[in-house]
Amino acid sequence: MKCLACNVDFSGTGRRKLKKGFGYYKCPECGSIFTPKAVPLFNDNPEERVDANPERVKRLSKFVAGGSKVLDFGCRDGNLVKVLFEEGYLSHGVDISNNNAYPSDLPKAVVFDAVVMVEVVEHLKSLGAVMNGIKKVCKKGAIIMIESSFSDWIDFDKVKDELYVNPEIGHQCIFSHTALIGLMKDYGFDLLEEINRNVFIFESV
Ligand SMILES: [Zn+2]
Repeated sequence: MKCLACNVDFSGTGRRKLKKGFGYYKCPECGSIFTPKAVPLFNDNPEERVDANPERVKRLSKFVAGGSKVLDFGCRDGNLVKVLFEEGYLSHGVDISNNNAYPSDLPKAVVFDAVVMVEVVEHLKSLGAVMNGIKKVCKKGAIIMIESSFSDWIDFDKVKDELYVNPEIGHQCIFSHTALIGLMKDYGFDLLEEINRNVFIFESV
């Protein structure tokens, strides 16, 4: 068994909890919680939280000025792309549920100043593969804003009651802070700032 977050092999030592027919494991090395079985990706509407988009733009504006090129990776129906555009950013969105398959559909000719990923990383089987693609469309020094919920505050013994560990909303891997920061570093993104326990800013180096 390999951890989807840190890639450590922990055969025989991992703890497993069942949730709606999916076995979730807690990695003894990095503390991430994941299921190796592919979960459905799209049926995730309740957590879109469009109302939080102005706040997201405000956060981003401390790192990149208006006029900058911003990619919303996993943009759903594009509300944040629209809000960014209205605030003067050259925004672009891609989403697998809008017939865009990432990372292959990332625009090749554009180099972005910033990438936002809101509630995306927990849906991916390989964040590393995705970050490889993103790296190619990032300027050196580009800002990556990642918003998710993390395993650090999840009691694994009570996973059955945990809303966030849930195959029905497409959650494949809930990262620990340590695992996310480590993986991002491996792919060329240094932690710049922890905004709060759910939002991290990285820099492409
Ligand atoms: Zn791990």
